[in-house]
Amino acid sequence: MANVGIVGAGLGGLSAAIHLASSGHDITVYERNATAGGKASEISSGGFRFDTGPSLITMPFVLRELYDAGGAEEDERVELLPVDPICRYFFDDGTVLDAASDEQAFCAQVAALSPVDTDAVSRFLDYSQRIYELTSDIFLFHSLTDLKSLLRWKHVKTLLRLPQIDAFRTVHEGVQSFFHDDRLVQLFDRYATYNGSNPYTAPATLNIIPYVEYRMGGYYVRGGIYALVRSLVQLAEKLGVRFHYETTVEAITTKHAVVQGVRTESGIRTHDAVISNADAVYTMTTLLEGSRQAVASKKHHYETLEPSCSGLVFLWGVRGRRDALAQHNIFFSGNYAEEFEDIFVRHIPPADPTVYVSITARVDEDHAPEGCENFFVLVNMPYLTEKNRDYDWAGYRDSVLSRLQQAGVDIETDIVYEEMITPADLEQRFNANRGSIYGISSNSRNAAFLRPSNRIRKPRGLYLCGGSAHPGGGVPLVLLSGKLAAEAVMR
Ligand SMILES: Cc1cc2nc3c(=O)[nH]c(=O)nc-3n(C[C@H](O)[C@H](O)[C@H](O)COP(=O)(O)OP(=O)(O)OC[C@H]3O[C@@H](n4cnc5c(N)ncnc54)[C@H](O)[C@@H]3O)c2cc1C
Repeated sequence: MANVGIVGAGLGGLSAAIHLASSGHDITVYERNATAGGKASEISSGGFRFDTGPSLITMPFVLRELYDAGGAEEDERVELLPVDPICRYFFDDGTVLDAASDEQAFCAQVAALSPVDTDAVSRFLDYSQRIYELTSDIFLFHSLTDLKSLLRWKHVKTLLRLPQIDAFRTVHEGVQSFFHDDRLVQLFDRYATYNGSNPYTAPATLNIIPYVEYRMGGYYVRGGIYALVRSLVQLAEKLGVRFHYETTVEAITTKHAVVQGVRTESGIRTHDAVISNADAVYTMTTLLEGSRQAVASKKHHYETLEPSCSGLVFLWGVRGRRDALAQHNIFFSGNYAEEFEDIFVRHIPPADPTVYVSITARVDEDHAPEGCENFFVLVNMPYLTEKNRDYDWAGYRDSVLSRLQQAGVDIETDIVYEEMITPADLEQRFNANRGSIYGISSNSRNAAFLRPSNRIRKPRGLYLCGGSAHPGGGVPLVLLSGKLAAEAVMR
């Protein structure tokens, strides 16, 4: 039985804890905040309740597998509710399109919008599915540094089939080759942002995401996404995991290139292995003992990994009900290419933003007082740089409100509760590298191979999980990363 310390109670850390504890290992989790969940947090105030991070969950089988591994009873699992329409899209030209969860219904909507693209959605989803089938086993369900796994013949075959997984075009080029209508190109380009990447530079392999969402489904958790965090903490505790909240790990200590344990305010705690669920770049450049010297002598590449985009969140309690809105809504900018130039090239808040709005009170009525709704509003933002660090985020509010107003959604005078979460807040609260939402971006063809792996070779005994480690960001992938890190510890 190993005695394992886990730094961080984000979803990746919770997944690792459950996988290890269910195999009989002795697990201690250190979390600097007062509650678990990390970026998947919640706020309740003034009769309103908001999830402050994820609002849509995909790949439900990953969660099922985690519950199964932990031996969760039926009543210990959250209820996943299919979202329909998956999203309502408001385009800059005034067009509104519902992406129905039923593929035929979605195709019918697309046919009405752009008759020439009638068959394109199904053809695109077939292509997306093909990439998923070719890549998921090697890129999602196994560790890329597990040599034995890489040498399996089917994985070697995948690597030999790089052109078939569309790694040589960008997401945008891939999407554009299927659709004539620019609005549909914008809609499917958007999926690159599901791991915080730029559709104009990220490899078209990321075009697997629409398959995952449309053919496996998009889900909301009854009671709010935070109910998922609560259920995983309870399951972990039942398996004997110990949680130390408000306990910052100051360093991961080592001796002769082997991990010894962690140092907190109350001293050094020894562990056979340490899994860091904190951001991988932060872990390898700050938290790991001796890492600052390694950075200074340029001994590793972690600082050169491009973070994913960040985000600006407004939590608005709004009087009245806007019938024009669905549970999930996107208000697209007029020029998507310019928006990503602002975010990833100029590193400035987009002059013309795309705005996402999710309203959980549409399903859970008690998330807002009677006659009101809870608006979770997210705008993609550049990761923090010296240039944008002191930006006046509050001043950006007007750009967001006017994007909604342009689509006929006028809420400004009805906002009765308000909270803002900035990129700097994400950095400060969760040690998210430069405020990134998803960890590392996938903006280049080799990003998947440069992504920090779940097992660090030196020092021995250090493992990574979470959005910035393999296989990447977003709820299902960080749950998988926790599983891969746990498996690596057990190996
Ligand atoms: C606004 C927003 C919207 C999102 N929307 C979606 C969505 O709709 N769907 C989706 O799938 N994903 C979404 N995501 C992404 C998803 O939330 C993340 O990928 C996921 O929650 C990250 O989990 P993680 O395991 O990487 O841990 P994190 O959430 O990064 O947690 C790491 C934990 O480590 C702790 N920690 C850090 N340093 C230390 C230290 N030194 N000592 C002790 N503890 C430490 C932190 O406090 C934190 O609790 C969204 C994220 C945000 C912010």
